[in-house]
Amino acid sequence: MDREGPVSQTFGINTFNLDEMRKRLKRPIFEAIQATIAAGEALDMGMADEIAEAMKDWAVERGATHFTHWFQPLTGATAEKHDAFLSVHDGKAIESFSGSQLTQAEPDASSFPSGGMRSTFEARGYTAWDPTSPAFLVYDERGATLTIPSVFISYRGEALDKKTPLLRSMRELSRSACAALDVLGRPTRYVNSTLGAEQEYFLIPRELFELRPDLEVTGRTVIGTVPPKGQQMEDNYFGAIDERALNFMSDFEAEAWRLGIPVKTRHNEVAPHQYEVAPVFSSINVASDQNHMLMDLMRKVARRRNLAVLFHEKPFSQVNGSGKHNNWSIADAEGNNLLEPGDNPDQNVDFLFFLAGVLRAVHTRAGMLRASIASAGNDHRLGANEAPPAIISVFLGDTLTRILDTLLEGKTADAVSDEVIQTGLEVLPELRKDNTDRNRTSPFAFTGNKFEFRAVGSAQSNAMPMAYLNIAVAEALDEMCARLKGRLDAGEDRNAAILAVVREVYADAKPVVFNGNNYDQAWVEEAARRGLPNEMNTPAALKTLVEPETKALFEKYKVLQGHELEARYTILLEKYNRMLDIEAVQMIRMAKTGVLPAAYAQQELMARAYEGVKKLDFDTSSQLEELRIYSELVGKTLDGIDAIRQTLASAPDEEDAPARAAFWVEKLIPQMDALRVTCDTLERRTDEELWPFPSYHQMLFQ
Ligand code: ADP
Ligand code: MG
Repeated sequence: MDREGPVSQTFGINTFNLDEMRKRLKRPIFEAIQATIAAGEALDMGMADEIAEAMKDWAVERGATHFTHWFQPLTGATAEKHDAFLSVHDGKAIESFSGSQLTQAEPDASSFPSGGMRSTFEARGYTAWDPTSPAFLVYDERGATLTIPSVFISYRGEALDKKTPLLRSMRELSRSACAALDVLGRPTRYVNSTLGAEQEYFLIPRELFELRPDLEVTGRTVIGTVPPKGQQMEDNYFGAIDERALNFMSDFEAEAWRLGIPVKTRHNEVAPHQYEVAPVFSSINVASDQNHMLMDLMRKVARRRNLAVLFHEKPFSQVNGSGKHNNWSIADAEGNNLLEPGDNPDQNVDFLFFLAGVLRAVHTRAGMLRASIASAGNDHRLGANEAPPAIISVFLGDTLTRILDTLLEGKTADAVSDEVIQTGLEVLPELRKDNTDRNRTSPFAFTGNKFEFRAVGSAQSNAMPMAYLNIAVAEALDEMCARLKGRLDAGEDRNAAILAVVREVYADAKPVVFNGNNYDQAWVEEAARRGLPNEMNTPAALKTLVEPETKALFEKYKVLQGHELEARYTILLEKYNRMLDIEAVQMIRMAKTGVLPAAYAQQELMARAYEGVKKLDFDTSSQLEELRIYSELVGKTLDGIDAIRQTLASAPDEEDAPARAAFWVEKLIPQMDALRVTCDTLERRTDEELWPFPSYHQMLFQ
């Protein structure tokens, strides 16, 4: 078996990275692109031809025959359309790739959802090169494709993708954090928002996966019962990784490294056959692109190794779900993490300022954050056992909470610099250790020098939750910055003024802080008393997107126009509606063609046994009772199928997405839940040999 060389020699070799650019581009061009990558500065497109030429040469030397703009439409994960470098002149072929081909392409975009923004006759969508994320090579057996990370916009500049708002949100957060740093007396050129995305997933044998049409089509098992002992033996976390999984990991890691994806940790997760991979953090845009790349890679490698990787948030009912914990922070141009407590109280006053900014952001924009993680899949996870609840709260840990509470108790500006706080600020550097045993039940936890948004779904793109978080924080910082400036202009002492603002902000935002057990029912009640929203399903959660306050915020920061939010709302609802529709149809099909035939065979078995035993003149009453119960379940299955079928037939039209979604929540989901219970009961009462689908036991425990 070939062994991979040292990672230091392979890392990033399949990307057109800064090193390659330095080698291949004239100095001023290289410097311009470097500034774009670091600070998001606009790139002079006059340089495009030369960059395109260098990129093509690099790619062709490595076997590339095609290029593609790679983008992230609003539904689905990523999209691409390939073109060959081939161009023919007088019968002679050459490879060509122009600046305009690099910077702008026009895929036939009429089939991508635009929520009505771009009627098909009117115009097309354009993909445009995003120079802040490196182009990379995707190899097939014969050649390779130069893959160019791109945004996807309408000809009027409306965002048709997930990446455009993310880039804009990064710009806005940089602007607002820079302004804050200015007022704090620590000017910097730009502020980078960073992401380290932990990715959870399940891995099961491909042959079993292929026998489960529900897994194949919907990503989750719509029927299936957990074995009696199930996950109760929670000794899996951090246990030894089984060999098949380990080989899979080594494979995709080696390829990920070549693509410059710094995957670093791998381990078992709570559930059997559940794992996690995490890269070293980087700028959000790159980290978000790389998460897409990684998922694609993992799917490919899994297939090659005869495995199936499951990214769905809840592939197995009553088994731990999967998330994509988004570790998030902000850093200045010198790379100083603004959420890192420093070595002295002065620095820690600044730290508290940014920390309070995040608290305020999460508190005032909880609805938006909740909307950013809403999907049919995540609905099964949020609020379920062993998953963060749909209530967005923040875990701060005892030390920080104590410091902020102390601050709050000080009624006057003088009191804020009192001894207790000063001492408190000195202990802050110890925070990291303090947080090692942090609360794992919180949807949004401070983990020593960054926040971890844990409620993000494992299948979804990081772009939206990160964009919404950035915007919310930008808003909070702008607001705090204005207050601080007022105080400083009035001649207040720097630290006292900052702490006073922190105190005011914390006084408002304190209800969002919760350090207890988020899985506890008591928290649901407590959160309601505190006035925190708790939207239990996607249609309810998404409504925030079209509320006037949300639109005003997105417009103020020039991230999205109101009508673009409307379009997104519609598209996300339609996606939700379609997924439920597909799940329901799948469920009916499996019940009809799998469950019922097995149940009839079982019934026959039972009936025959009963007849036989009865002839012997034994007491057969319990056997008869058993058969009666079983037959009742069969009847219930038939009724259940019928009920769902009628619901599907009588649903509001697809055009009216909100009404249809509400109908699914009110009627379809309870009916599907009920049919599932019936089918699962049958599964437990049916001969394993007769059951047509691989069981949870086979998929998770073998
Ligand atoms: P754990 O969550 O197991 O304690 P770590 O704290 O090392 O692990 O990090 C988890 C993830 O957070 C990793 O992807 C790591 O790179 C990322 N991370 C660390 N620092 C930052 C930061 N400043 N910004 C964003 N992500 C970060
Ligand atoms: Mg973590």
